[in-house]
Amino acid sequence: LSAEAQRVLDEIDEKDVDFLRLQFTDILGTVKNVAVPADQAEKAFTEGIYFDGSSIEGFVRIQESDMRLKPDASTFAILPWRDGHSARLICDVINTSTGEPFEGDPRHVLKGALDRAAEMGYEVNAAPEPEFFLFEEDEDGRATTKTNDAGGYFDLAPKDLASDVRRDIIFGLEEMGFDIEASHHEVAQGQHEINFEYDDALTTADNVGTFRTVVRAIAAQHDLHATFMPKPIPRINGSGMHTHISLFTEDGENAFHDGDDEFDLSETAKQFTAGILEHAEALAAVTNPTVNSYKRLVPGYEAPVYVAWSDRNRSALIRKPAARVPAASRIEARFPDPSCNAYLAFAALIHAGLDGIENDLDCPDPVRENIYEFDEQKREEHGITTLPSNLSEALDALEDDELVMDALGDHVAEKFLEAKNAEYDDYRVDVSDWELDRYLETF
Ligand code: GLU
Ligand code: MG
Ligand code: MG
Repeated sequence: LSAEAQRVLDEIDEKDVDFLRLQFTDILGTVKNVAVPADQAEKAFTEGIYFDGSSIEGFVRIQESDMRLKPDASTFAILPWRDGHSARLICDVINTSTGEPFEGDPRHVLKGALDRAAEMGYEVNAAPEPEFFLFEEDEDGRATTKTNDAGGYFDLAPKDLASDVRRDIIFGLEEMGFDIEASHHEVAQGQHEINFEYDDALTTADNVGTFRTVVRAIAAQHDLHATFMPKPIPRINGSGMHTHISLFTEDGENAFHDGDDEFDLSETAKQFTAGILEHAEALAAVTNPTVNSYKRLVPGYEAPVYVAWSDRNRSALIRKPAARVPAASRIEARFPDPSCNAYLAFAALIHAGLDGIENDLDCPDPVRENIYEFDEQKREEHGITTLPSNLSEALDALEDDELVMDALGDHVAEKFLEAKNAEYDDYRVDVSDWELDRYLETF
């Protein structure tokens, strides 16, 4: 038993934990749990816990369904909303027939990207900004799209009635080990953002799953429904999950910083940016993987539509945020949304960026004007292309992009395309309220 695992066992004892939730994530990014009594903890660390993977989206076929969960002791945390007697451990998934990491495990896919970065001498830091809405529930406890406050960006109480809920959410997150940097009401009514401290990309991806779980559980205690759906209400801002990324060298230097550059960005940072711009259309399938994602990526709502970068404006795909200290020089990818599987999204972004570095890609000049206001001709002059306008286009772009397909690996790429094309087909045959409103009486 490792020292870290032993510490976990001691804490389980000390704190009277009676149940352990062993967590992993399916291809769509849903957090899955296998609950075991706490006295199984030692066995979980030494032998792993076996489960049937055939019922998990995108995992395996019935005939090869035995999987093993291998808990990562560093992820131990007591769940604050269960009277302190339940805890979770995030696990790697092992293929029992080979004893190797299961290639369909999104956490394994991200580890692959981080290994590539390490071979190039880099450690990847990431910080996401997941936005979400708080909605009221109806009498039957079902989610509505009615907001419980009338706040606007950075509004203070008493208008921001949701600030109590947000405070409880922050306490819950802090109990789970989060370092909260800031929290504020977002632009739209009922919309919120809570930012947490950056970390290595694997820990951050783990944190995204935990964040979603905590936010939803604590909102529910207040009879509210928290949703990370990208665009729940038409014609107002949607919810993004902007992702800040930087590369550090082995000696702890920020490889993205160059004080002599006009934007404080190193050549490495620019090549990384160029890599993301180059693969943006295919990346969108992973960072914006739902039908609804593309309702957010439209002009006018602070979400990006155009493939460009900027040192100031929010209509670009990538922004260089102001940084007060060299360590904070980073890029902000503004297109991801919180319906993505963070492991896969980070893996794809990182591979694209590293590819930009490896191939010395040229980074275009930043675009400083509001690109929403450009017409087609002006976009062409600046060499600006657009993101896919729906999930189907994004999936086609993904299929054609060898780099992003390789980033996911054969197993995940195949299952992902299968599940997502089916999702789009199901949408395509539906008839929406918009169509009925528009056509029913006209024709
Ligand atoms: N809600 C906006 C989006 O969809 C972002 C607003 C902001 O800049 O924080 O990305
Ligand atoms: Mg925001
Ligand atoms: Mg942001």
